[in-house]
Amino acid sequence: MVQSRTHNCGELRIGDAGKKVRICGWLENLREVGAELAFAIVRDFYGTTQVVLETPELIAEMKAINKESTVAVDGVVRERASKNPKLPTGDIEVVPESIELLGRCRFNELPFQINRSREADEATRLKYRFLDLRNPEVKNNILLRCNVVSAIRKSMTEHGFTEITTPILTVSSPEGARDYLVPSRNHPGKFYALPQSPQQFKQLLMASGIDRYFQIAPCFRDEDARADRSPGEFYQMDMEMSFATQEDVFAVIEDVLPPIFEQFGIYNRASKAPFKRIPFTEAMEKYGSDKPDLRIKLEIKNATELLANCGLPAFDSANIYAVIAPECSMARKAVDKLAADVEVQTAEKMYWFRVDENGEVVGGISKFVAPIKDKVVAELGLNNGDMVALSANTQKLAAQKTAGVIRTKLGASDDRYIDRECYEFCWIVDFPMYEIGEESGELEFCHNPFSMPNGGLEILKKAAAGEVDPLTILAYQYDLVCNGVELSSGAVRNHEPDIMLEAFKLVRLGEDDVKAKFPAMYNAFCYGAPPHAGIAPGVDRMVMLLAGEDSIREIIPFPMNKNAQDMMMGAPGEVTQKQLDELHIAVTAHEDE
Ligand code: ASP
Repeated sequence: MVQSRTHNCGELRIGDAGKKVRICGWLENLREVGAELAFAIVRDFYGTTQVVLETPELIAEMKAINKESTVAVDGVVRERASKNPKLPTGDIEVVPESIELLGRCRFNELPFQINRSREADEATRLKYRFLDLRNPEVKNNILLRCNVVSAIRKSMTEHGFTEITTPILTVSSPEGARDYLVPSRNHPGKFYALPQSPQQFKQLLMASGIDRYFQIAPCFRDEDARADRSPGEFYQMDMEMSFATQEDVFAVIEDVLPPIFEQFGIYNRASKAPFKRIPFTEAMEKYGSDKPDLRIKLEIKNATELLANCGLPAFDSANIYAVIAPECSMARKAVDKLAADVEVQTAEKMYWFRVDENGEVVGGISKFVAPIKDKVVAELGLNNGDMVALSANTQKLAAQKTAGVIRTKLGASDDRYIDRECYEFCWIVDFPMYEIGEESGELEFCHNPFSMPNGGLEILKKAAAGEVDPLTILAYQYDLVCNGVELSSGAVRNHEPDIMLEAFKLVRLGEDDVKAKFPAMYNAFCYGAPPHAGIAPGVDRMVMLLAGEDSIREIIPFPMNKNAQDMMMGAPGEVTQKQLDELHIAVTAHEDE
């Protein structure tokens, strides 16, 4: 059997007319025009080519083949009578001499029409992902991902970074999520953990003298799915640099990412270096979020002093934040819908009023604002036609977050408030080192525990002595944000064992605990480590932004469903009793029990 082809299905042009060729691909469609005329479309990775059938025999032969079977067509290239300028191969067609069936599709009916697979329900798409991926639109997202990854590799290598792979079977690492555990056969009762990130290994590489490391790193976290987070596994563009500060990391990222975003994104404009830097507290105050979408031009104003005593009971002793929508033409119905949407998302109320064309305050809570109108207009800098939407809560953070949601929704509602078609990067800096844990109610690290505190050993000692509130200690830690999406955290690391011990002491872990939990890092740092810093932007999230997709599953070749199942492969799956015995595992509950 001759299987090789002379050309692929996206390749033939008018200049090839008259050539004898062999093309191979999937039979996408057969359109019969008459007893002696039919057109078959053959598709492969590269494109489609029209095959014209002009004898009843050839038509019958092709008709006998189910769509989506693979075929080889030997024939001659001919200029088309009616050309299709939309297709690269639209000037030609292939007149077959013979058709060979290579791989028969056994089914007359497909689970969905290939070119419209995105309209099929997700469970079916994921079960038949190999068919879904035949749809060029779906495949193109995966190709985009490959191209982005290869551009990242090229650029990072050009910036002097060495790509090193780190272990997958390792120990639990503290990125704050649940681990995936792998039982050990040789060590009964012991488990490997899949890495939540290569954090410790990359820091150990720094202690090993590898100056600049990067990796397109698979990370495993047993977390529930969200639109922008797949359950289970994801990839990071993980990097770390020695003898480096925050500035050095920023400079690399600001050099590497914008050209990639401009080249591969649906928008061809991206922020230039230096990206805007916003301290965490300022981000919450101005944007109501630590991942602000800077494409939105609206800012939030603190209206607490201005409105706390206006008489509206909900404003009594509350923190009040105002989002101003200039010349807002939103209809009353749309305002109510906005308020309802905000309430669904935040469980908080949105308050509002407008300044009408005569300068009067109207609508919503205007009754309470009218008596102090002049002061409100002056302090909020209002003009006729503006709408003001407000949040109020006795908890400052809650009021800020609600205002942030209002800002995002209002911003998206009107093209005048948002410059949609660009990538706006920013750095959120000066994160607190510690927080009070939601579940524990006790002092915990905000991020992973390896960041350098701003103020070093001294500030930690003061906190331990009760002279400084640990919640006020800032860390050299930063987030990279693009268009309202958190792409990454990163930090200047704590490379001094003494500072490390002091930092852990505040979260109630002693020297022995640190040595037991992080033996490698602690040991390595005792042998002289370079100051180092790094970051790890999420590859999946970046590709999502570049492709303009809302679901992370659109940019992953074989995604799991929202319940962390792979319905195509049947994962997670049953294993045999023998396997369990070898692993010293007794299963105490089954899913269907
Ligand atoms: N390992 C961190 C994370 O996964 C990123 C970093 O700090 O480099 O969030």
